[in-house]
Amino acid sequence: MITMTQPKSRFLRVKCNDCSNEQVIFGSASRKVTCLVCGRTLAESTGGKSTITTHILEVLE
Ligand SMILES: [Zn+2]
Repeated sequence: MITMTQPKSRFLRVKCNDCSNEQVIFGSASRKVTCLVCGRTLAESTGGKSTITTHILEVLE
């Protein structure tokens, strides 16, 4: 599992560690983001920052 903090407001293309679904999420989401396919947590908000809890494929400007 890769955990990293994205303090800036960007879109991230991520891949679910469990089902390999690719999904674009907002890098500074204010609430938990889950996989649309299996419901795994992809990112959660911690003190205003998003903690990405899955594999990041690409950071979109
Ligand atoms: Zn999934």
